Amino acid sequence: MQYFSITFWPLIFILGLCLGSFLNVVITRLPVMLMRQWRQEARAQLALGDEPLPRFNLAQPRSMCPRCETTLHWHDNLPLIGWLKRRGRCAHCQARISVQYPLIEFAGGVLAITVVLLYGFSWQALWLYGACLTLLALAVIDWRVQLLPDALTLPLLWAGLLYQWLFQPAFLADAVIGAVAGYLSLWSFYWLFKLATGKEGMGFGDFKLLAALGAWLGWLSLPLVMLFSAGLGAILGIVYQASSPQARGTPIPFGPFLALAGWIMLLAGNEVLAMYLNIVS
Ligand SMILES: [Zn+2]
Repeated sequence: MQYFSITFWPLIFILGLCLGSFLNVVITRLPVMLMRQWRQEARAQLALGDEPLPRFNLAQPRSMCPRCETTLHWHDNLPLIGWLKRRGRCAHCQARISVQYPLIEFAGGVLAITVVLLYGFSWQALWLYGACLTLLALAVIDWRVQLLPDALTLPLLWAGLLYQWLFQPAFLADAVIGAVAGYLSLWSFYWLFKLATGKEGMGFGDFKLLAALGAWLGWLSLPLVMLFSAGLGAILGIVYQASSPQARGTPIPFGPFLALAGWIMLLAGNEVLAMYLNIVS
């Protein structure tokens, strides 16, 4: 079998590393791009005129050190190797470069191997890989800046419905109900919580993310996703707030827990569901 050739798995891993490297760009730049866009829109509303800002998108400017802004050499930009070679420091000013970069790259590689192991070298594996990477980006962005951009949650939702239509059409109705139920359940919870306490317990991005997970996993998996993410979120929240007094009262984003539960259910959903049904029956 071609899968067992010596070059196959390393190639898949390297491909995953490169996509993980691109994911780092999305994670660090997308929130900045959105904030710039909102600022421009606000200025336009206030008739303040356009601000002359340097070009900033996923391709420009080239990768640079966050402190001294020296452009990176191509070999410092190589996934994993670049960071390891410089031991996590900028070659120019020695500023620390976050360990997030190599970790995301590594996750990209490991996820690529995982989906190919589970689904073979197939279109289905590619779709699932895309979903896993998008969830990873959402989790890290929400953790860093408490934002779940529509630019990621909505395509994830549509892609989930398309995925069912293409690969498991018999499941499409479950997925559509899952998307609607995912959105509505958190939406109702949000309003009940707001009416009862006057506070906002979560953001609208959370509704859209759970809708997307409903589309990928079907409505049957939603209670498990909620149970897992709310449970883990509550435990970590209590530990975090108990560990440092100044953390008390700081909101903890819900997106990373939803994304983690989504990941587990995407890659091992049947096993988890079977285990769960075993326990409750
Ligand atoms: Zn530097």
